[in-house]
Amino acid sequence: MQRRNLLDLDELEAGELRGLLDQAQRFGASPPRRDLLRDIIVVNLFFEPSTRTYTSFAIAEHLVGADVIALPPGSSSLGKGETIADTALTLAAMNVRVIVTRHPESGFPYRLAESFEGHVINAGDGCHAHPTQALLDLLTLRTEFGRVEGLRVALVGDILHSRVARSNILGLQALGAEVLLVGPPTLLPASMERGRVKVLRSLDDVLPHVDAVMLLRIQRERIAAAVLPELDDYARNYRMDARRLELLAPHAIVMHPGPYNRGVELTEEVFDFRGWRYAQQVAHGVSARMAVLDYVVNGLPVSPAPPRPESILV
Ligand code: ASP
Repeated sequence: MQRRNLLDLDELEAGELRGLLDQAQRFGASPPRRDLLRDIIVVNLFFEPSTRTYTSFAIAEHLVGADVIALPPGSSSLGKGETIADTALTLAAMNVRVIVTRHPESGFPYRLAESFEGHVINAGDGCHAHPTQALLDLLTLRTEFGRVEGLRVALVGDILHSRVARSNILGLQALGAEVLLVGPPTLLPASMERGRVKVLRSLDDVLPHVDAVMLLRIQRERIAAAVLPELDDYARNYRMDARRLELLAPHAIVMHPGPYNRGVELTEEVFDFRGWRYAQQVAHGVSARMAVLDYVVNGLPVSPAPPRPESILV
């Protein structure tokens, strides 16, 4: 069996990433065959709360015809002292082929993948990575603009603790977008600036120049109380509100991975904004996850060879 996993987007070549997005776009336009994952057992092993990602994986698994087992948080024997390696061995012995996992510890899916004889899909590990969220975000940008290449995208807020930001930075860069990180120093250290990824402090200055804004939630559960920003300060400088929406270019869109905190990273006016794309992101989550399940189990479809130039000699 091939050991394809999806742990983060840096495992994929830009061509593979495009192939995955093409496949997700096809699945979004017309549902895939129900037997794509026939007789494949998938276990959803989530150790952190999740509404969108969990439901979206469950729907995607159903739509591609997998046999799905959900292990609700707290019900696996990892809590009883069983090692990850032993859990992996146990599940593999029952013919489980795919594990979709979310865990508060960065790196958990990697350790699982080392000992599991099947495919591991990372549904979010600590502050580290959330590759399927980044894929659905890329799909949303592609659907909106027809491309990701050359777009200028601002990620706003708690970049330091955001696995969504980290995976998006990888994906956006791989596909040739320009990435602007915007936030206060406590949530966005200057050291996050690298290559074409810029660190900026003033959201107002950035807004007129971007194609898309991704707002991020402050990851309270991962931040020591002493370092948590004053919410009033944060809102004054980084909350998307009616005045800031006016600063955007007419074609610009606003995204959020959810769950959003009303009054903190956005105000209610955002929900009526013509470029608010949250619902589209959620919808794209199902097609992106169907494409990922298909990719790890079946591989990417072989793209048709380019047409051969007609011979002038015949
Ligand atoms: N739902 C996303 C995640 O799991 C974003 C968030 O929680 O703020 O990382």
